[in-house]
Amino acid sequence: MSVSDPSAPAGDLDGHPGAPHPPAAELYLHERYAISGARSRLLPVYYALKPLMPRGMQLRLRRLYAARQRRRRFPAWPMEPVLVQMRQARLLRCMHERGVSRVAMVNDWPQGHRFAFTLTHDVEGPAGIERIEPVLEIERRHGFVSSWNFVAEEYPIPRGTFERLRAAECEIGVHGITHDGKLFQSRARFAHDLPKIQDYLREWDAAGFRSPATHRRAEWIHELGCLYDSSFPDTDPFEPQSGGCCSILPFMFGELVELPITLVQDHTLLEILGEHTPRLWVEKSGWIIANHGLVNLITHPDYLDSPQRLALYDEFLAFLAATSGGWHALPREVAQWWRMRSRLHCEQGPEGPRIVGEHDGRATVAWAMQRDHVVEIECEP
Ligand SMILES: [Zn+2]
Repeated sequence: MSVSDPSAPAGDLDGHPGAPHPPAAELYLHERYAISGARSRLLPVYYALKPLMPRGMQLRLRRLYAARQRRRRFPAWPMEPVLVQMRQARLLRCMHERGVSRVAMVNDWPQGHRFAFTLTHDVEGPAGIERIEPVLEIERRHGFVSSWNFVAEEYPIPRGTFERLRAAECEIGVHGITHDGKLFQSRARFAHDLPKIQDYLREWDAAGFRSPATHRRAEWIHELGCLYDSSFPDTDPFEPQSGGCCSILPFMFGELVELPITLVQDHTLLEILGEHTPRLWVEKSGWIIANHGLVNLITHPDYLDSPQRLALYDEFLAFLAATSGGWHALPREVAQWWRMRSRLHCEQGPEGPRIVGEHDGRATVAWAMQRDHVVEIECEP
């Protein structure tokens, strides 16, 4: 391939996870930057005292603290651009080294889509189970489907619940055995719960896991042995375990696909930040879409407990439905795609760049090109 070949493929330089991530990216993806100092000292005190406080006081204190959390410098909230910038820099370097103005790569999403979006729900208790239907109804209206994560031994799950969801083309996921937030606190506890989690994954025919309260540990997560996990936020200063993997694209923990949670959770949006519109979801989605990422939302039917809140969800789905270039799929489909994509790369053929590796025909070539010092990615259909 000549250095001036304008169709030079980017190979592994596009940052696709077929190649090992550079050590610098793993620092973020595995949250290693958070090992010291990133955990709040005040938050555990707040959670310990919370049951003793009247509800109004709880909320006032939590909001006061949230105002401080949202100003956190790293990972920045609501957007942390470090990995987006790292990818842009690698693509630019590739162009400069080859003296070309564009490079070919495997498109991030199937069939030339610009971004992907998934809707997920964690069911926290019986009230959530009661409110499944109105949420499904809204999604149905927009032609969307979703995943529903249940805690296995925390509350009774009425017979027929899974069947009803599957009939609506939704998928079931495991949201832990109990919701006490201690799964990753010690190796002993993790080892105790793991076989049960795997039993429920099998029994429920579930492909994915969402950790209770999004507690997580990068070193252990691959041991779940399922297709995907979705417990790492890209950035979230508000959850009991704050931090984030800084990625708006899926990535691999060994054979397991991680689908990062890329929008602020409904409870934070409604209760802690006191928002009455989906403005924050729409704005962040705009940035994710511009950078070809995955819009991955958690809502809880437990908190979508009024017509106003359901209308807010409806309004956000209307925004997604009206945005072109999006691939809407179940989390398990997105994970299957990503696992397959991670084994593909782009190579120069006699007719131009071609995709190498086994795929189902949905992978397409995309072009990264430089425009005014910014890298833009153009998807071919
Ligand atoms: Zn939960």
